Amino acid sequence: MNHLFTDFPNEFANFQELLATPKKIIITSHLNPDADALGSSLGLKQYLDKKGHQVNVISPTDYPDYLAWLPQLDTVINFESNQQKKAIQLINKADIIFCLDFSALNRIKEMEKWVREAPAKKVLIDHHQAPENFADFVFWNEKAAATCELIFQLIEHLGDKNLIDKTMAECLYAGLMTDTGSFRFDATSKEVHRVAGELIEAGVKTNQLHRKLFDSNPISRQRLLGHLLANKLVVLPEFRVSYMSLSAEELEKYTSTPGDSEGFVNFGLALKDIVMTAIFIERKDHIKISFRSVEDFSVSLLARTHFNGGGHKNASGGRSETSLEATIEQFLALLPTYQNELLAIQE
Ligand code: 5GP
Ligand code: MN
Repeated sequence: MNHLFTDFPNEFANFQELLATPKKIIITSHLNPDADALGSSLGLKQYLDKKGHQVNVISPTDYPDYLAWLPQLDTVINFESNQQKKAIQLINKADIIFCLDFSALNRIKEMEKWVREAPAKKVLIDHHQAPENFADFVFWNEKAAATCELIFQLIEHLGDKNLIDKTMAECLYAGLMTDTGSFRFDATSKEVHRVAGELIEAGVKTNQLHRKLFDSNPISRQRLLGHLLANKLVVLPEFRVSYMSLSAEELEKYTSTPGDSEGFVNFGLALKDIVMTAIFIERKDHIKISFRSVEDFSVSLLARTHFNGGGHKNASGGRSETSLEATIEQFLALLPTYQNELLAIQE
């Protein structure tokens, strides 16, 4: 496993060589894709299309409604649809499979087996902690704010920045903006702003894109958020922790679709003196958990150690196969172990 270009120029040369002639390419990203997953996939797809490759984007699961406006999203194949057979054929015949915005193959659900066994060269481009060693080429930087940032840098390093047009820039900006929480999270570096500036130069209308992503909510989402904040937010000042939960029944009552609860977890951290928060959501066959933290408290480690998950230091996720109540109990029982660490965090 080698990092691309800066550290290993020879590896980068091999990678460049791989792309020098037209290839059959698959791009995939993590289940329940967000704007960084789909934005990076579609941005890269449009670039590779321009270079004369045959490119298909396959998503392990369906995408949320709030991303339906992303340029060329209609070309994405949902592996969990009647196109699965075609998707498997494409994976088996591919020369290259790009794996974007995830670090372990179990993040692509049923596709894992097919991608693992496919003869294609695999390229991992990601910014999550603890990458699995499965790819032939690795472009990984856990300090990067978004996979979209890495895709921009890759295209730039390949000498093709001038090929980034408005729709590609919109895809990449969408991931950069959402993964940085509108340019406010810790990873919002000078480089992030440079890349954002380049994307604006390529045609992104920032306010328009922000409105598409954050101010185009269905009323069901707003009502669900109201319910959550009014009735479900629990604050535990002794641990500097807060948490929320949503049962399947509540989700149904508010006629919520999966994308509807995206980002809600951040409200639990927008509280004075709170340094870690969680949200527990009852899905069909598991409990989906999201964690957020500030400064040096690693929710990635917490998710990896106790909830079969992972992610970034300050934003991670996991899952539990027990009930909603049992999962929350498990979380609460862990807090005393972390109490000293939590109380020591400088806000
Ligand atoms: P979210 O809470 O928004 O779903 O995810 C936060 C971060 O943690 C994202 O970067 C996401 O990719 C990662 N993440 C979420 N759920 C899981 C999981 O079950 N396993 C792993 N490894 N990462 C996750
Ligand atoms: Mn990401």
